[in-house]
Amino acid sequence: MSEILIRNAARVVTMDAGRTEVEEGDVLIRGGVIAAVGPGLATRGTVVEAKGCVVTPGLVNTHHHLYQTLTRAVPGGQDALLFGWLKTLYPIWARFGPEEMRVSALAGLAELALSGCTMTSDHLYLYPNGARLEDTIDAAREIGLRFHPTRGAMSIGTSAGGLPPDSLVEPEAGILKDMERVVDAFHDPAEGAMVRVGLAPCSPFSVSRDLMREAALLARDKGVMLHTHLAENDEDIAYSLAQFGCRPGQYAEDLGWTGADVWHAHCVKLDGSEIDLFARTGTGVAHCPCSNCRLGSGIAPVRAMRDAGVEVALGVDGSASNDAGNLIAEARTAMLLQRVARGADAMSAREALEIATLGGARVLGRSDCGALEPGKRADIAVWDMSGIEAAGARDPVAALLLCGPTRVRDLFVEGRPVVRGGQIVTLDLPRVIETQNRLARRLMA
Ligand SMILES: [Zn+2]
Repeated sequence: MSEILIRNAARVVTMDAGRTEVEEGDVLIRGGVIAAVGPGLATRGTVVEAKGCVVTPGLVNTHHHLYQTLTRAVPGGQDALLFGWLKTLYPIWARFGPEEMRVSALAGLAELALSGCTMTSDHLYLYPNGARLEDTIDAAREIGLRFHPTRGAMSIGTSAGGLPPDSLVEPEAGILKDMERVVDAFHDPAEGAMVRVGLAPCSPFSVSRDLMREAALLARDKGVMLHTHLAENDEDIAYSLAQFGCRPGQYAEDLGWTGADVWHAHCVKLDGSEIDLFARTGTGVAHCPCSNCRLGSGIAPVRAMRDAGVEVALGVDGSASNDAGNLIAEARTAMLLQRVARGADAMSAREALEIATLGGARVLGRSDCGALEPGKRADIAVWDMSGIEAAGARDPVAALLLCGPTRVRDLFVEGRPVVRGGQIVTLDLPRVIETQNRLARRLMA
């Protein structure tokens, strides 16, 4: 079996149970799996010199709308709150088709890969003009990232009192049928899976109570995970109280949307009892600090969640509400934002890195990923700390978050190189950028 040895790293951050960090460390990859971690390892296979580098588990992104990379910095949506922002963008998204879905996913995945991400979820909740979930799965296979796409959906259009235009919603029977189709066709429950499918009605304000409940039943029947947006901002809470007569946590619990197989994006406005509910049930959270800042949604109570035992992971969220898809930058923002709310000791660089790696793997139910230990999948990020960003830094691990860089030097997924020397090796990136810009111009014309 082929071997790759990443050798002589300034520090290997394992994220094992003892949070071991190995100085002058090596990581040996055999096939798609980590064979050994420690100093003084040898191989007859390929050697990757990592002098001056920090080696970490690959970062894990748990909330994204890859298609939105085609609609960044759109005038009219730049300074709007969540609901106004959505209303600006819906008509543009209604012009998407399969090519837009595939190319925007490719661009979004490339951006993530360059920022150290080896595994990402995606939340695709609109399927205009023949677009399908597999348009994004094709893109993930092409670049080589581990992918957890979710079959999202919207079913309540403007005419029924919902937020999205009627042209972007689907009938609920058709949604459930397609959810079943994509799980059967693409979900791989095996260890080391490159694709796992989840079910993800868009949000409580764009689907019915029935669809939420039916999706939960279907997910449990198929053994797949559930994902949606929850408690994102004050408008969201007000909507829940007015429409459902309860807070979002209660709504989720009533419909079967709590448990270790569920993760919710944002959760900025969870109150104490909702945090307890999430901790008690093992329900995960995708914290999206940049999006929360960008849309002025608030600061998620991540410190309180972590202290209560809630599994917290990171999400860059859609690139239209961030408008970047840089995951290591997201980890830095997560760390800084808790400090804004709770003081300089509210979150350390190492805790932010843990949330970005191990936390993400846990929230996505991947006990085979998220740490550099023998037997785990070889999803690895190599960060060159010898550049100007970290010049003079004493602690290279803390420097990764406190200083930078924000681009990986090398990235391996399932033991295969995706980024080498700061360049994506699985794609013609200039061509992706060119196509992306051409499609964006056509959409905005
Ligand atoms: Zn989102």
